[in-house]
Amino acid sequence: MQYNMLINGEWTEASAEAWYEALDPSTEGVIATVPRASREDVRSAIDAAREAFDKGPWPRMSPDERGDVLERLAALVEKNADELAALESLNGGKPIRQTSFADVPMAIEHTRHFARLARTLGDEVVDLPDIGVKSRVVREPIGVCGGIIPWNFPLLMAVWKIAPALAAGNTLVLKPATYTPLTALEYAKLVMTAGVPRGALNVVTGPGAEVGEELTSNPKVDRVAFTGSTEVGRKIMAMAASTVKKVTLELGGKAPMLILEDADPGEALRGSLFGAFLHQGQICLAGTRLLLPSSLHDSFLSRLVEKAKTIRLGPTSSWETDMGPLISAGQRKRVEGYISTGVKEGAKLVLGGRRPDIMEKGFYIEPTIFDDVSNEMTIAQEEIFGPVLSVLTYDDLDEALALANGTEYGLGASVWSRDLKRAEDLARRIRAGTVWVNHHHILSCATPHGGYKQSGVGRELGIWGLHEYTELKHLFLDESGEAMKEAFGLVLPE
Ligand code: NDP
Repeated sequence: MQYNMLINGEWTEASAEAWYEALDPSTEGVIATVPRASREDVRSAIDAAREAFDKGPWPRMSPDERGDVLERLAALVEKNADELAALESLNGGKPIRQTSFADVPMAIEHTRHFARLARTLGDEVVDLPDIGVKSRVVREPIGVCGGIIPWNFPLLMAVWKIAPALAAGNTLVLKPATYTPLTALEYAKLVMTAGVPRGALNVVTGPGAEVGEELTSNPKVDRVAFTGSTEVGRKIMAMAASTVKKVTLELGGKAPMLILEDADPGEALRGSLFGAFLHQGQICLAGTRLLLPSSLHDSFLSRLVEKAKTIRLGPTSSWETDMGPLISAGQRKRVEGYISTGVKEGAKLVLGGRRPDIMEKGFYIEPTIFDDVSNEMTIAQEEIFGPVLSVLTYDDLDEALALANGTEYGLGASVWSRDLKRAEDLARRIRAGTVWVNHHHILSCATPHGGYKQSGVGRELGIWGLHEYTELKHLFLDESGEAMKEAFGLVLPE
């Protein structure tokens, strides 16, 4: 199947007629050809978005009108849910159960949420009694936005960049990850069907080093929102600096799952496996460091290993499959590199670490658990983005907190205890953007998502995420003229 990209309302090939192949990571087979955009193509997309912002109807529509269009978009996504779930599974290496029951329903709900929030954007009146006027604080769109997204949630990440940008009246250029462009392109088709005018959304497919860098450094782009590795996030921040673009960065994580002695053992066990192995651990919020009290260590770990053995690896199209492949051969190699580093640095491999015998093709790797991990080890510090769980042990809660906070990241964390008061107290002392008590991973479109420390800048989702796509203008309206007279009197006597 051949896909085209979206520039100024037209579905086009790359100007150099260059293509690349998108794969199914569970079979390694080619599923589509996709345009490989050049910098010139990106500049055309940026020009279209600029024109649509400066002269087009989208930024000038009322919040309610934009809300109506996004509402129609959510309904279209719902209508196409099964096809989107199948494609997300095929290209993203996700079991069909996950894309059908999580990714696509979230894409619908999050689109709908931004449709609702679009309608809330209006002026605020601020009383200035000292000056004797009422001022207005106006929320305006920022302008042309660039969105750069990763391969782990291809559809949902597209929604997170497109829906709030459009809801606030911006125009944008989206760059999907090279591995996983297909559902973002399908979503863009629905955006156009819903009635978003030409040029307001453009989608350009191609490598980060060209498409992403052009988007980040081009002076006609006002804002960049990026989700991906901390390493690339640093580059984006540096590139955006030359034109002082606004940036939001949602970067890496190394989430601790802090199990307290009084945790419900069944829930903590299931939660740990869910936290660590959902989507093969390729999630920035993945619970990759399990912090166990030494008193529970042996019994908890042996049950954890037994339970992890029951996770079923298989083809992503099967409803029986719990875990699919990693996204690419390169990602698997990277994860295998971390596993051998873990062994070399003295951690004890208690489960997995290998490619499964049962899968002849595909970038699979077994659920892997390391015990005896110390916090200085590479596998305790670096984002692996694979099904690799590190178990660390603590003797008291101060030590547990030091471990929980002891990385450069601060995206997510969870605390597991039946004593909610104590759990909340610990949660408040963990330096992370999201801390769950007795859960891991659950995300709502109504609450903010983002990182402390080197896990990011800014927030996505909820009203906080929408406000990141707005500029604030202070509109001073001196209706009586009295304030002016008084102020000018300071240097110009009547
Ligand atoms: P990257 O951070 O490289 O990629 C994320 C997005 O940024 C992709 O669209 C990519 O394009 C683009 N990109 C890459 N280089 C640049 C650049 N110089 N300028 C602008 N955009 C760029 O992640 P990888 O896919 O390489 O994965 C490597 C590691 O990153 C993973 O193992 C994981 O640790 C981490 N990661 C973290 C994610 C998170 O959500 N926190 C998500 C994905 C990865 P392209 O696809 O063309 O390379």
